[in-house]
Amino acid sequence: MSRLMISVSGIRGIVGETLTPDVIVNFAEAYGTFCGPGKIVVGSDTRITGHVVKHALLAGLYSVGCDVIDVGICPTPTVQMATEKLKANGGIIITASHNPIQWNALKLLAADGLFLDAEQGQKVIELAETKNFRLAAYDAVGHASTYADAIFDHEQAVLDLPYINIEKIQAKKYKVVVDCVNGAGSVMLPAYLEKFGCEVIPINCTPDGRFPHIPEPVPENLTQLSDKVRETAADIGFAVDPDSDRLALISNEGIPLGEEYTLALAIQFMLSRKKGKVVINASTSLASEDVAKQMGAEVIRTKVGEIHVAKKMREVHAVVGGEGNGGVILPDVHLGRDAIVGIALILQHLADLDLPISEICRRLPQYVITKKKIELTSADTTSILNKLVENHRNEMIDRIDGVKFLRPGAWVQVRASNTEPILRIMSEAPSAAESVALCDQFINEIKRLL
Ligand code: MG
Repeated sequence: MSRLMISVSGIRGIVGETLTPDVIVNFAEAYGTFCGPGKIVVGSDTRITGHVVKHALLAGLYSVGCDVIDVGICPTPTVQMATEKLKANGGIIITASHNPIQWNALKLLAADGLFLDAEQGQKVIELAETKNFRLAAYDAVGHASTYADAIFDHEQAVLDLPYINIEKIQAKKYKVVVDCVNGAGSVMLPAYLEKFGCEVIPINCTPDGRFPHIPEPVPENLTQLSDKVRETAADIGFAVDPDSDRLALISNEGIPLGEEYTLALAIQFMLSRKKGKVVINASTSLASEDVAKQMGAEVIRTKVGEIHVAKKMREVHAVVGGEGNGGVILPDVHLGRDAIVGIALILQHLADLDLPISEICRRLPQYVITKKKIELTSADTTSILNKLVENHRNEMIDRIDGVKFLRPGAWVQVRASNTEPILRIMSEAPSAAESVALCDQFINEIKRLL
């Protein structure tokens, strides 16, 4: 039996096992109590269990006096923007993001459209545990309304950016293949790409939530898209996850560029238009950092997690930022990872440089990331991390998230999982051989410490 994952950003579980209606109602009442009576925006991806989760969620929200503004099937960033625009007390996206089809989840937003931070999320969890709900009287329960323009608003905000020159992109008549994994992107991305004058070849753009491949947009799951790009001699392929916050690119040669390069390219484009700071998380590739520094930008790193990056971006007035898993954040639109934004920046970058995407990427700093994990029998990860720090005390170490050992042009990061007794080891170096060797060196060292 899977476990119900409860975190400050929401709850996640397998429908039919742990994510049951009573769990959802309880959590909805907790969240609604936290937000107070008023408007809550609700949107969802296309998962086949969405209606089950939604009915339970709405019942819970109404019962504590919240009025629901239903924006329908929408990408996560679209719901974030609607929450902010409609001046709601909060927002919820029904999506398990890149997790497989049997999962579903509630992602919880604050009134500003950002995800709940640790403190806010903890309050919701406490309310769910104590069941100290502010139940509404019979004549004060909430009601539903719909808002049909969330997607239009989102697209318009991107198209209105002063540095997106739609005519210039249209003139290029790019041929693009887009794979929405039958998720939330299906309802908007093909038409959106046509606005840029693209000849669009959609694959898996039926919004029925039947994922035709594992939905995480990593290279091994994108072979169909790669083949299609090659077959049709397209200029580029775009892949998104089921809630369209992550964007992956396939080159004109049909080669997956890796989600890290989505962010590196977006940073390169934005800094060509606006000078300022860049915020990325502690696990993001040096490719993004190098590109930003080459262009004279200060780079600030944060803990992994969208909320950490978004809050830091707001604090330092960053021009662009995000997470290396294809999560581009552009504050000029909103403070959340957004594939719709990412697509526009990449198309504009292509049009500006007037080079094939493969060539643009070849000119970027080249790095390879390796990810491995060690399963532990005890959960005392702190003492292991401390011993590692002691063993490497003469090296450059940063402790923004876990422990990260910095070497010239390379790094290794060791982090404890929040949900399982495992250590995640991640390394990056200019070649696959160096990257794997570095990762293995630390794995062997950790095994000796156990
Ligand atoms: Mg996602």
